[in-house]
Amino acid sequence: MKLLLPLLMLALLSPCSSFGEEAYWKEHGIDIAGLSTEQLAAVEETVNAIGALKVKDVAIPKGIYYRLSSFRRLYGFDFDGEKLKGWLLGRVKSIAPQNGWTIAVNNNQGHFYIGDRFFTKSGFLERAYCLIHEARHSDGDGYPHIRCPGNCKYVSAGSPDIDLTEVPACDGGKDGAYAFQAAFLFELYARNMVDPEAAGLIYNSSMSRIIRLEGKTVK
Ligand SMILES: [Zn+2]
Repeated sequence: MKLLLPLLMLALLSPCSSFGEEAYWKEHGIDIAGLSTEQLAAVEETVNAIGALKVKDVAIPKGIYYRLSSFRRLYGFDFDGEKLKGWLLGRVKSIAPQNGWTIAVNNNQGHFYIGDRFFTKSGFLERAYCLIHEARHSDGDGYPHIRCPGNCKYVSAGSPDIDLTEVPACDGGKDGAYAFQAAFLFELYARNMVDPEAAGLIYNSSMSRIIRLEGKTVK
């Protein structure tokens, strides 16, 4: 049901006036090109749902939470839906469609390219962490990815065709895009929000993309 909800909401957002959709993005100074009204509505819905997240109390043992939570260190504020929405929108300059091996790309300091899979296969959780991941690429030098190690034992669950050893799909540091998406997912997991079990599993998967740096284990 939780996964069906975003799809239902998407279905309800029928091809209404594109004026309303465009006004939303204009208000945030974001240029839109090439996306359908339905696709724009799906992105807007995801961004608004992030802003509407009601933070709950930590529901896992405090020791585990404090050992693994990195949201405040990375984002500079405590987990909060509205602040996270502002953090995200402040890092988007434009959105356009583009299909590649990733669900979305931000390859030029705020210029987001979103693939079909974002709309066809993803629920709120995947869309949300994906946008957050891309937003981190707007900071600094873009925090570019590095190639995963040749002995990488992990798979891309969402993209089975991809061999992680052949594409830049890992991070060499603890403050890149995977760290930011993981920190977001960890809060959902720890606070029993949205779909905590899925959030926990994708958190684990996200952490597997943050690899050793110069012989040291990244913590
Ligand atoms: Zn990335």
